[in-house]
Amino acid sequence: MPVNQARPGGQLAEVALPHRVTLIPGDGTGPELVAQARRAIVATGVEIEWETAEAGADVMDKYGTPLPEGVIESIRRTGVALKGPITTPIGAGFRSVNVALRQRLNLFACLRPCKYYPGIRSPYHNVDLVIVRENTEDLYAGVEFDVGSPEACKIIEMSAGKIATDSAISIKPISETASRRIVKFAFDYAVEHGRRKVTAVAKANIMKFTDGLFFRAAREVASAYDGRVEYEERLVDNMCMQLVQKPELYDVLALPNLYGDIVSDLAAGLVGGLGVAPGANIGDQAVVFEAIHGSAPKYKGLNKVNPTAMILCGVLMLRHLGETPAAQQLEAATAAVIAEGKHVTYDLKPDRDDPTAVGTREMTDAIIARVARGDP
Ligand code: NAD
Repeated sequence: MPVNQARPGGQLAEVALPHRVTLIPGDGTGPELVAQARRAIVATGVEIEWETAEAGADVMDKYGTPLPEGVIESIRRTGVALKGPITTPIGAGFRSVNVALRQRLNLFACLRPCKYYPGIRSPYHNVDLVIVRENTEDLYAGVEFDVGSPEACKIIEMSAGKIATDSAISIKPISETASRRIVKFAFDYAVEHGRRKVTAVAKANIMKFTDGLFFRAAREVASAYDGRVEYEERLVDNMCMQLVQKPELYDVLALPNLYGDIVSDLAAGLVGGLGVAPGANIGDQAVVFEAIHGSAPKYKGLNKVNPTAMILCGVLMLRHLGETPAAQQLEAATAAVIAEGKHVTYDLKPDRDDPTAVGTREMTDAIIARVARGDP
């Protein structure tokens, strides 16, 4: 982060100040993954001042909440966070720290690049997709009414027989503002990164008002990019089939929240699974980098899971910080370790029980060694 500083004598000199980043270890396998990603980022030589902020199931007793206010304050201060996964308990308790964080910081866009790296076991070798998912509304808005609740009964009555009387109900809000904002984000991303096409994805033949609105807003936004970035629409079911049959035809996809969640896991599967898929949640004031995968609690503390997704989050973060050469170096080193196939975790071996698989730390060591040698 170069800034001008006054020298004695009144001259100005450019001095590199460290970037400030909030580090959220998370829970489950999060802390071990985040620790390794941090080592790999530090190895590039980029100066970062880390502010560690604890969140997740493990801090409930200490703070009385899985999302202490200090975490939000730290991200607001630094504008950038590297976050490990956080467990969401099923059923009772807090809804989801991950969703709450996105809502509190208005991180309206979820970016999920899905790129094939040679050496990964996948029948698809020609995939380089970017999924742009709307993050704030749709069925994730959390407007739900339990079976038998007065609200559910009222809506059932209003539906004039279309909804069974023993139904629980989730509301799916899709707004013009959020739809335009996410599609514009996808087009701006395409322009900035030299991408050729944006495909809007929804189910407007069935949900004519909500998904119909999404397509209409997308078309309006697309017209401003005419001649620069292509635009097309797909129904989400057809999109899933096409991605499995010919993913190389697609480039940047823009989707409402729920379809975006599902399609990004599908796309992650095309390029080798959750262990290698990074992501970022982006707002006007802050960006939180986090892997697609969850906390994989059964592997907690075992030094077993793949650090690649978290390290590639670090690559995205370095690019965001303007540290492009360091980002390229770290990505190339990670790709080279994967291509060599020697120092990789169990999920990247042809046989999951392969005794030559290494742990989280050892795979990171191999990546760091290449970064240090400048030898991808
Ligand atoms: P998960 O991604 O944690 O794990 C599913 C399986 O994927 C694992 O058992 C493992 O086999 C594999 N896997 C995941 N990450 C891997 C890695 N880095 N290397 C190798 N293999 C890996 O999904 P889940 O079990 O459905 O979720 C566990 C918890 O995480 C849940 O509470 C869920 O809500 C939460 N979650 C959090 C986030 C987040 O923090 N953003 C995202 C997704 C899920």
